[in-house]
Amino acid sequence: MKRITSFSVDHDYIVPGVYLSRIDGDVVTYDLRTRRPNCGDYMDNVTMHTVEHMMATFLRNSDMADQIIYFGPMGCQTGFYLLVRGEDHTRVLNAIRDALRNTIEYNGPVFGASQKECGNYLSLDLACAHRECIRYLKQIENWTAEQLDYPTGN
Ligand SMILES: [Zn+2]
Repeated sequence: MKRITSFSVDHDYIVPGVYLSRIDGDVVTYDLRTRRPNCGDYMDNVTMHTVEHMMATFLRNSDMADQIIYFGPMGCQTGFYLLVRGEDHTRVLNAIRDALRNTIEYNGPVFGASQKECGNYLSLDLACAHRECIRYLKQIENWTAEQLDYPTGN
């Protein structure tokens, strides 16, 4: 079995940040790493799920809406993937921060929190999303397009 690209990244060196995971044609996959891998500190499902609902909605309502392809959590509970059309890294970083701020400032019903709209709509809690987004925004407040390469041991 061929090892997929994301398994080739040495996870021992990954710290919270934003990384360029892969480029497929004009589709860029960003690794939004919120937690350091394999350190016992993981997002719970309610947190990942609520951040997914909030961030996906805000990103798809941003001025990059037409370029947003996907936003969703990693199964390892240490981050999210964001797929965007085009290589406009600085704009994407700003869109991520804007969506985080929008989520942090939002106080209302979680988007898509109904039986008709979601597969597990009771597993959502805005306070959990607020906590995660506040924490992550602090980590990537000054992140630039020059920092998108995964850290290595060198
Ligand atoms: Zn859902």
